[in-house]
This record gives sequence, structure tokens and C-alpha cells, in this order.
Amino acid sequence: MSQECIFCKIAQGVIPSKKIYEDETVFAFHDIHPQTPVHALVIPKRHLTCLDDLAVADRAEAGHLLERVAHVARELGVAAEGYRTVINTREHGGQEVAHLHIHILGGRKVGPMVCR
Ligand code: 5GP
Ligand code: ZN
Repeated sequence: MSQECIFCKIAQGVIPSKKIYEDETVFAFHDIHPQTPVHALVIPKRHLTCLDDLAVADRAEAGHLLERVAHVARELGVAAEGYRTVINTREHGGQEVAHLHIHILGGRKVGPMVCR
């Protein structure tokens, strides 16, 4: 765990969150500032700064993480109508929290992808 990382602290229960799902390697919780009626974040419990931290050795863990994203979306009831997933990476990607996380945005139709 990174001492200063808020998402590590959330995964450990040190900082409270609205938890949706947890297993040995994955944690999912509601975003504190939802952009859509359903806005969840799915993270690896292990501290990875961003997608670029993933290595070939992490393929099984990454596959599990992605499959759990789909599971959480189903649990939240947004899978049938659909949802958007977003991973922001570093400064140009608009990443604000330096712990790999996958956004699940659903509950309404979102507009076309626009990058301003
Ligand atoms: P990023 O811009 O890094 O892709 O997204 C970070 C997300 O984390 C933002 O949507 C922000 O609202 C959310 N966030 C930041 N701090 C907290 C927190 O302490 N708790 C929760 N639940 N979400 C947070
Ligand atoms: Zn972390």
C-alpha cells in the first residue's frame, strides 16, 4: 500500500466509501462526485499508479479486474441498457488519483465521446 494514496486507503477501509464489491484483489465503490446516476470506480487493491504500470506478468490479474468491472455493472443494474467505462492515464489523460481505476458511468444515456 502506498502511504499517501487515497484509493489504497479506501481499499483497506481506512477511508470510508460506499462499497459495492470486494474480493481478494479487487475493490469497487461509488464515486464521491457522480457524473451520472450510476458512477462507480473499480480498482485493484494492489497499488498500481496507472494503466502503464501493468506488466505482462499482471495479465491474469488484469483480466480478472476487467471481468469484475462487467460484474459490478450488472450488479448495479446498468448492463442491459449499457454504460461507459473510462480509464484516465496521467496528466494528458486527466488522471487525478494516481491509483489505477476504471470508471463505470451509467443510469442515463451519455453523449458521444468529446475530448476538450
Ligand atoms: P480520475 O480523474 O483520476 O480518473 O478520477 C478520480 C475520481 O475519483 C473522480 O471521479 C473523483 O470524484 C473520485 N474521487 C476522488 N476522491 C475520492 C474519494 O475520496 N472517495 C470517492 N468515493 N471518490 C473519490
Ligand atoms: Zn494506491
